[in-house]
Amino acid sequence: MTKRIFQAICAVTAIVLLSCLVIIVAVCYGYISDGQLDQLRMQTTLVAEGVENEGIEYLRNLEAQDYRFTLVENDGTVLFDSKKNELEMGNHLEREEIREAMTDGYGESQRYSDTLTEKSMYSALLLDDGSVVRVSILQSSIFSMMIEVGQYIFLILTLTVVIALALAYRLSMNIVKPLNEINLDDPLMNEGYDELTPLLTRVHTQQTQLTKQEMELRNRQNEFETVTNNMSEGLILLNRKGTILSINDAAVELLDTNHQCVDKNILTINRNLELQEVLSKALSGGHAEKIIGIHDGRYQIDASPVLPNGEVTGVALLIFDVTERENAEQMRREFTANVSHELKTPLHSISGYAELLKSGMIRQEDVIPFSEKIYTEAQRMIQLVEDIISLSHLDEGAEGMIRADVDLFDLAKATAISLGDKAKKHSVELDVSGSKSAIIGYPQLVSVILYNLCDNAIKYNRPGGKVYINVENFKDEAVLTVRDTGIGIPAEDQPRIFERFYRVDKSHSKEVGGTGLGLSIVKHAAKVHDAKIELQSEAGVGTTITVRIPKA
Ligand code: ADP
Repeated sequence: MTKRIFQAICAVTAIVLLSCLVIIVAVCYGYISDGQLDQLRMQTTLVAEGVENEGIEYLRNLEAQDYRFTLVENDGTVLFDSKKNELEMGNHLEREEIREAMTDGYGESQRYSDTLTEKSMYSALLLDDGSVVRVSILQSSIFSMMIEVGQYIFLILTLTVVIALALAYRLSMNIVKPLNEINLDDPLMNEGYDELTPLLTRVHTQQTQLTKQEMELRNRQNEFETVTNNMSEGLILLNRKGTILSINDAAVELLDTNHQCVDKNILTINRNLELQEVLSKALSGGHAEKIIGIHDGRYQIDASPVLPNGEVTGVALLIFDVTERENAEQMRREFTANVSHELKTPLHSISGYAELLKSGMIRQEDVIPFSEKIYTEAQRMIQLVEDIISLSHLDEGAEGMIRADVDLFDLAKATAISLGDKAKKHSVELDVSGSKSAIIGYPQLVSVILYNLCDNAIKYNRPGGKVYINVENFKDEAVLTVRDTGIGIPAEDQPRIFERFYRVDKSHSKEVGGTGLGLSIVKHAAKVHDAKIELQSEAGVGTTITVRIPKA
């Protein structure tokens, strides 16, 4: 802007300067010319008077100086010329000033030389005898005059131009200075040009609107981020080129990346082919979903195209963790298969024995053992169904049960008493030790924990073996330990014995009336109490299971 103002000032100055120069030169030249013409007229009158009185001799004696005198007869013949030989001069009748003088008594004319550097001014007066006396003077033309004074003009011009440039520079700087100093952060507080007030007011209004809009946008952005970052599902917004526009915390964690991935292509953070497949389907305008494996989990990817005007402008990717759902489904499938399998065996036995009894083909003495077998299998089925019912109750949490004060030591003693006969049958000795330890819990579930652990310790023991039931009371927890001197659990089976229907030795378990659900029930019942289970076992030596139940 400074440059343009500077150039404009310079241009105006140059035009004004040149115009002034031309006008001044023209006026001066005109003024000089007028003066010379007046003098010429006066000279002509004086010379005419002299010739009238003294004849041609007057002209011959006259000192010519700058003037040229000519006497022309009334037929145009030159009688005398102070500068040229009159004999060599042609007829002057057609000369403008001569013609005018002859007709009007006085004539004037001006003529330029061939090079235009000089101008001759002629003044002619008719004498009484009909001849014409002409006086002329040579004057420099305006062009040669300009050339003559050219160096002075050049000097003046140079000086003026230098001064004009300096002034133009100062002036343009001064004009632009208030503009440069405008504080756009506070447009209304600027002092400067009044002409700028409407513009600055407009800027102020627009700035206020922009700040408001920016605040609104930021608030919305914050709201959006707060909502999306508190989602457990991963959410990624992409543009139609697959560039990440927004990614929430859950998605960042899931895809093992960070928030710096915004503005990068999704391919740079995840190259999963299935994810790309879902994405390309959404980018072509269709909704797509797929379950894919990320790390150790299973995740459902929902990709929906963003279609504001029927044209895909981006994609919203939602990532759900379906690991638990998938595992639960898998467990349910396995559980159903196991239950069917577990029920099928006793039912087949019952059906077989019953068929034999029904046919009447068996001997009388076999009726009782066959009935006993049917009874045992039916009991196993009842036990199995009861365990399944307990487990399904525990799957729903402790719904319907009421928490109460439970003394673990008293319950341990009661359990030992109720299992006394079974222990005797297996020739196993039960020992209860420790101190009273009260917790707040579900009495039925705590009993189930105690019963199943002690039952296993008896079932998987040896004749003459021992079962030590100990209860210790601590400030924050009650600790139950059931130790046996039984067959123990091989190390490779230890991590799996709490799974449903898992048995180390299936036939031995069935033989002793096991269902494979006892320890799963213990695990669930402990979980309801936030209790921790520790297992120590050595095959052939014995097993110790410790349950730590927090009091709070
Ligand atoms: P089950 O009804 O067969 O006893 P559990 O879930 O109670 O089922 O136990 C699972 C398996 O763990 C049992 O089949 C058994 O092989 C093993 N087990 C459990 N407790 C003991 C123990 N105290 N000593 C040895 N093995 C045990």
